[in-house]
Amino acid sequence: MYLKSLELQGFKSFPDKTTIRFSDGMTAIVGPNGSGKSNISDAIRWVLGEQSTKSLRGAKMEDVVFGGTARRGAMGAAQVTLILDNSAGQFPVEAAEVMVTRKYFRSGESEYYLNRKRVRLRDIRDVFMDTGLGHDGYSIIGQGRIDEILATKSTDRREVFEEAAGVTRFRTRKEEAERK
Ligand code: ATP
Ligand code: MG
Repeated sequence: MYLKSLELQGFKSFPDKTTIRFSDGMTAIVGPNGSGKSNISDAIRWVLGEQSTKSLRGAKMEDVVFGGTARRGAMGAAQVTLILDNSAGQFPVEAAEVMVTRKYFRSGESEYYLNRKRVRLRDIRDVFMDTGLGHDGYSIIGQGRIDEILATKSTDRREVFEEAAGVTRFRTRKEEAERK
């Protein structure tokens, strides 16, 4: 399982359609301060369903939409598409690739697509739960996250291990059933 490509359009500092193709080896993204490296990892977390504007380093969801520069006007929507390899079938999707798209309009409307089919946010979350790849999974370790994990309450820290052990899916279902 690996990331195949990421396409951004209107997301943060990427007004033009930008496609990043990854191979199954290691990829490093380098660039000067403020050039958009962290915006790329924000885009991956965002397309996987991140709803916390704080962890997206913004104040409101609208902040993910390209806000314009001195030479260029703001955009009306942000869109990110992530394609993952699924040839080993790790994701519960019957296809060799998983393609996830999230679109957000300044008006506040959101759209989610899974392999080009319109879905709900929770469908996206279901696919990535327990894979470590979810928006809150451990595959994306942001600056300061290690300290956070070490300093956190043991019950919160347990969640990281539960995700790695693949039991989050069952705990979530149990909690949902108990709420009904
Ligand atoms: P560093 O090396 O300092 O960590 P970086 O390469 O990670 O830098 P980012 O934090 O990804 O840089 O990018 C910051 C840039 O993105 C800033 O110039 C900021 O103005 C721009 N930016 C963030 N959100 C938007 C937005 N909504 N519209 C336009 N530009 C944005
Ligand atoms: Mg950065």
